[in-house]
Amino acid sequence: MTKDVVVVGAGISGMSCAMYLEQAGLDVGVMGGPEGSQLANAPVVRNYPGLPPMSGYELLEEFKSRLGDGVSWHEECISCNRVDEGSYSIEDGNGRKLSSRVVVIATGRRPRLLGIPGERELLGNGLSTCAYCDGAFAEGGNVLVVGGGRVAFDSALYLSGLAHHVMVVMRGTGMRDSTWEDTLYRRGNVAFGRQSVPTSLSRTEDGKTCVSFDNRQAAMYDVVFYAIGSDASLGPLADLVEVDSDGIVALDGGCQCGNGLYACGSVLSGFKVNQAVTAAASGAACACQVVSDLRASGTSC
Ligand SMILES: Cc1cc2nc3c(=O)[nH]c(=O)nc-3n(C[C@H](O)[C@H](O)[C@H](O)COP(=O)(O)OP(=O)(O)OC[C@H]3O[C@@H](n4cnc5c(N)ncnc54)[C@H](O)[C@@H]3O)c2cc1C
Repeated sequence: MTKDVVVVGAGISGMSCAMYLEQAGLDVGVMGGPEGSQLANAPVVRNYPGLPPMSGYELLEEFKSRLGDGVSWHEECISCNRVDEGSYSIEDGNGRKLSSRVVVIATGRRPRLLGIPGERELLGNGLSTCAYCDGAFAEGGNVLVVGGGRVAFDSALYLSGLAHHVMVVMRGTGMRDSTWEDTLYRRGNVAFGRQSVPTSLSRTEDGKTCVSFDNRQAAMYDVVFYAIGSDASLGPLADLVEVDSDGIVALDGGCQCGNGLYACGSVLSGFKVNQAVTAAASGAACACQVVSDLRASGTSC
């Protein structure tokens, strides 16, 4: 089956990209289902502009419902290879082969976990990996931020405006940049726990999250926020692109990352604010770039 463009990933960025490509009259294949999206884990999304609060899954279904007959749906991508100067050969989980001149990688990223007992059970219920998404649960409460890098600093700063008290714990003796600690101290409601690593999490009967630490102490928090970074989900596409520690490096600082190869959304290294609205915008911008490049190379669309 030959497509004009294959979009790998059916999260917000991939579906937004597919919507714009379809509008340009292109024949688009989308691989994967919305259920694998990070957003599917959000119990309620309150901050997507122009739409009422709804669950992340409902928002993804809303996006999916806007895609029409110009889009075909396929199982997840299990291999993708450049076969000659002009095209990619892509195989889905059912063994179906697709061929396309253009591939858009929209496979998102996965927040890192500590791998300690209790965290899988508490995710979304006392444990969050996204301060901007779940800040509402911190309002007026005592919260713990785990991490000492940039994400932890941003999260603690944001949460200090919502929570009664923010404790930041980190493995090392200080945050990666000491000026971050000064900034947080000045907020008046932020404290630090150094050389301190959570070893297990559990939920108490009164709805708190109990955290045990490696110094054998334990403490209760209303919400725990992991802020230890995330990893780009590349799987079978990893060999096609250049990556740094944050994800795919776009050659042009935008979305092109190879010959006929593009990326959008949170899988991109330059994707700094990981929100649904920024992922949708990235998908739209990427589609416009693809259409413009196809037109420049003589494709009528
Ligand atoms: C718990 C939680 C709550 C959140 N709450 C909010 C919120 O309230 N508001 C907000 O704006 N943002 C929220 N976010 C952030 C939001 O989910 C992300 O910004 C957004 O999902 C990023 O979109 P994306 O398209 O880049 O990646 P994703 O949405 O993660 O989509 C990636 C897609 O690629 C697919 N994929 C991966 N590998 C393959 C493959 N090999 N083949 C085919 N498909 C593949 C995945 O299955 C998935 O469908 C939340 C995130 C989390 C984790």
